[in-house]
Amino acid sequence: MSLEPIGKKEKLYVKIAQQINNAIEKKMYNPGDKLPTERELSAQLNVSRASIREALAVLEIMNVIEVRVGDGSYVMQRTSNFQFETKDSSVFELIEVRVYIESLIVKLAIERATDQNIRDIEATNEGLRKALNNEERIDEFFSYGVAFHKKLAEATQNDVLIQIANSLFEQETHPLWRHLNMKVLLSYEAREHQLHEHEGILNAIKNKDQEKAEELMKHHIEHLKNMFYE
Ligand SMILES: [Zn+2]
Ligand SMILES: [Zn+2]
Repeated sequence: MSLEPIGKKEKLYVKIAQQINNAIEKKMYNPGDKLPTERELSAQLNVSRASIREALAVLEIMNVIEVRVGDGSYVMQRTSNFQFETKDSSVFELIEVRVYIESLIVKLAIERATDQNIRDIEATNEGLRKALNNEERIDEFFSYGVAFHKKLAEATQNDVLIQIANSLFEQETHPLWRHLNMKVLLSYEAREHQLHEHEGILNAIKNKDQEKAEELMKHHIEHLKNMFYE
C-alpha cells in the first residue's frame, strides 16, 4: 500500500478520490476487497476524516466502491471508465458558508418578508409534509427542502443576497451534495426532523423572534453537517 500524502489545495476530496481510484486501478485492491477504514485513510493521507468521507462519497456515486453503513467500503466490479466531477464543491465548505449566509437571511426575512413570501415558504413545508411518508418520493422531498431555503432568501428582498444564496443552493443539485442528502433522507426520522426544523424556523420568523430564528437555522445547517460526517 503506497498512497501518498496530499498537500493542502482546492478540491482535496477529488484528489483523495483519485488516489484511491488509482490504487484500485493498479490492483492494490480488487473487487470485493475492503478498503482501509476512514481513520486509517485519514492518517495515511494526512487529511481530515471529513475529506475522506467526501472522497468515499464520490467513489460511491461513481460505483467504484460500495459504502456499507457500520461496516466499511468495498471495491466494486468495474462497470465503466471513471470520470470525476471536478466542478463540484466540497460539501463541508458549502455548509461552512451557509451557516453565516442563512443567519443573515433569516434576520432580514424577519424585517422584510411580505405575506406572499410567508405563503411561499409555507407552501414548501406543505410539500415536505405531503412527501414525508413516501419513500419513493425522496426526490420530491429533497426539492421542497431546497425550495424552502430559496423562498426564505427571496423574503430578504435583497437581489445580491438572493443571487449569492441561489449560487449556494444550486450546488445542491450537484452530485455530491445530492448523494449525501438522499442517503440521509432515506430515514423517516431524518425527513421528519427536517420538516420539524423548517416549521420551527418559519414560526420564529412569523413571530419576529430573531434570536430564535437564527439559532434554529444555525442548528439546522450544522445538523446536516453532523449527519453527513459523523
Ligand atoms: Zn433545510
Ligand atoms: Zn436538528
